[in-house]
Amino acid sequence: MADMSDNFVFAPPAPVSVPITGGGHFPVRRIFCVGRNYAAHTRESEPPFFFTKPNDAIALGAKIPYPVATASLHHEVELVIALDKAASAINPDAANALIYGYAVGVDLTRRDLQDEAKSMRRPWDMAKGFDHSAPIGPIIQATQIGHPTKGAITLAINNQVKQSGDLADLIWPVPDIIAALSRLVTLAPGDLIYTGTPDGVGPLVVGDHVTCHIDGIPPLAFTITPTA
Ligand code: MN
Repeated sequence: MADMSDNFVFAPPAPVSVPITGGGHFPVRRIFCVGRNYAAHTRESEPPFFFTKPNDAIALGAKIPYPVATASLHHEVELVIALDKAASAINPDAANALIYGYAVGVDLTRRDLQDEAKSMRRPWDMAKGFDHSAPIGPIIQATQIGHPTKGAITLAINNQVKQSGDLADLIWPVPDIIAALSRLVTLAPGDLIYTGTPDGVGPLVVGDHVTCHIDGIPPLAFTITPTA
């Protein structure tokens, strides 16, 4: 029997999804990321800013190949929000109702390309949105853990802690992030938001074993392998 797929010029890509703790898969629509979002002392007065990665930047495997076109791959451990409802122009007090669950993610960054882009006032896309640039662990449902507003967030390389922060130090808490983003785009089921990273970002090299932890959320671990 004919179906619509007969009209595609090639097979559509398989859906990108992230496993859910306890079973099932979360289909990923878009990946939004918040820029600088942790402060030791001061609360910024300007609103959060966002960039994106393509959804096929999602990396689920235990091995992440060192990317091409960089000599400065950096780690940024981040709380990831997974949305399962649509919304636009909402207020923060309506934001938690959009959240399906949470995961631990890493916003991998080609820092040399980002520094160049910043200095030349160019977009960050190629510094942020490359292949395998969005490692993520399993998603745990908010119905199981609630909506965390504090708790340790850490990243270690070869068992040495490099990043250590607390969700309580987010400059823009999760509901504020969602509300701000909902005023820029119409949010949709399947959207992920990487919420920014605490201090301590730094380089990764081939062979590094990276372990990431946020209290109450399934951990994430991977090893950097030679460029594929
Ligand atoms: Mn980041």
